[in-house]
Amino acid sequence: MTTSDYPNSYYAASRNIDLNLPALNDEIVADVCIVGGGYSGLATALYLREQGATVALLESHRIGWGASGRNGGQIVSGYGEDTEHLVSRIHGPDAAQRVARLEFDCLRILRETIDRHHIECDLTFGYVRAAMTRRQEQRLRQMMERWQSINAPGRIEFVDGQGVKDLVGTDAYRAAVYTDCEGHLHPLNLALGEAKAILDLGGQIFEQSPATHINYGQNGGPVTVKTPDGQVVADTLVLAGNAYLEKLEPRLQRTLIPGYTAIIATAPLSKEFTKRLLPRNTAVSDMRSVLDYYRLSADGRMLWGGLAHWSGNDTAHPETLLRKRMLKIFPWLGDTRTDYQWSGRIGISANLNPQIGRLAPNIYYTQAYSGHGIAPSHLSARMITDAIQGGSEDFEMFAAIPHRSVPVNKGIHQLARAWGMNSRRVIEWF
Ligand SMILES: Cc1cc2nc3c(=O)[nH]c(=O)nc-3n(C[C@H](O)[C@H](O)[C@H](O)COP(=O)(O)OP(=O)(O)OC[C@H]3O[C@@H](n4cnc5c(N)ncnc54)[C@H](O)[C@@H]3O)c2cc1C
Repeated sequence: MTTSDYPNSYYAASRNIDLNLPALNDEIVADVCIVGGGYSGLATALYLREQGATVALLESHRIGWGASGRNGGQIVSGYGEDTEHLVSRIHGPDAAQRVARLEFDCLRILRETIDRHHIECDLTFGYVRAAMTRRQEQRLRQMMERWQSINAPGRIEFVDGQGVKDLVGTDAYRAAVYTDCEGHLHPLNLALGEAKAILDLGGQIFEQSPATHINYGQNGGPVTVKTPDGQVVADTLVLAGNAYLEKLEPRLQRTLIPGYTAIIATAPLSKEFTKRLLPRNTAVSDMRSVLDYYRLSADGRMLWGGLAHWSGNDTAHPETLLRKRMLKIFPWLGDTRTDYQWSGRIGISANLNPQIGRLAPNIYYTQAYSGHGIAPSHLSARMITDAIQGGSEDFEMFAAIPHRSVPVNKGIHQLARAWGMNSRRVIEWF
């Protein structure tokens, strides 16, 4: 893979458009400069532009080159493990209720963005969380009760026995929860569609333009963001590089654990076969922390994801391990060829909650969706836009959640991550 192009994924091969945007080679001025061309940066630029702000977005590689163009395409609600409790401790029970509602609001924000800009990204509704053990089934029931208590939208259905097999054609699961407000989409086409919408509204986007240095203005004054051949001077800066931002802003790097996860795409399957595997064309994930997540692409491929880990090293050839998992659930796919394999980096926080906030009055950031991200990044973008344009109580609520630092020493860092990951796996056995 060269950085001038996308990783060799099914998504890159089936993208609708190729924007091929220029690199920045001049000094330009904008109301807001945004670093990062994934959903966090794109949706922020789009919402700001919709409200009339001038925006300049810098992307090191290509639009959607990071996690946003490589992910499982699974649209799920929620952001972290314990956001409600964290917020309740800081802001009280009313705010916790509000946070619980935002968990589902992010799905609406995403859907409305896609509709408003007519983005073609194979948006499909229907999602299944599946349990293999009694303990997982118990967690599913608790999850469903909680959703009912906060009046989650749409249909939520608990099934067991034959009901599970009507959703997923396997004997591997004992129970499942089906929702119709969650679902799946083509992630890179979403990112490219959002970029096109920004351009159509007159926003500026530069590819192959890494932000290499930031001169923070004094007391909230204008910021200068340098790239190899140009610079952007802006009143406000939004840092949206997530797990790929690295050393550009060490304060954000210190609180983020870079994790990895990988996906394979099989050759297209026949219609009869796909009906047998996923009769209602839902996306599926199981209830383990190193979960399997899978779905069918629009052309009938099985897209199988997993191997999420926080060890700090990418999985070089994930195919063997992912196929093993896939065949455990669907042994009938044994003769099916794998056409693509790829992996990507995800931003994880120590408390598995997204990190949204300000480094200075005019410097905003959002990162660490901890495995989720498609829908929550759009909520972040909405909150940051509102905060910049006049104020957002929701933004302030998230910004008050403290971030835990992760060890900077590489050895200790890796040990701590391995401990964190393994202790979660061990807990799952009890
Ligand atoms: C394999 C995989 C599967 C996943 N599956 C799912 C899923 O099914 N459902 C789900 O909800 N989430 C999933 N996620 C997570 C989700 O993709 C992310 O949470 C989300 O895309 C984050 O978007 P982002 O814009 O914050 O970051 P990214 O998409 O990573 O974008 C950051 C961008 O910033 C750019 N950048 C960084 N530094 C600079 C700089 N100095 N200058 C200019 N540009 C810079 C990078 O090149 C990158 O393009 C998955 C992630 C991966 C990797």
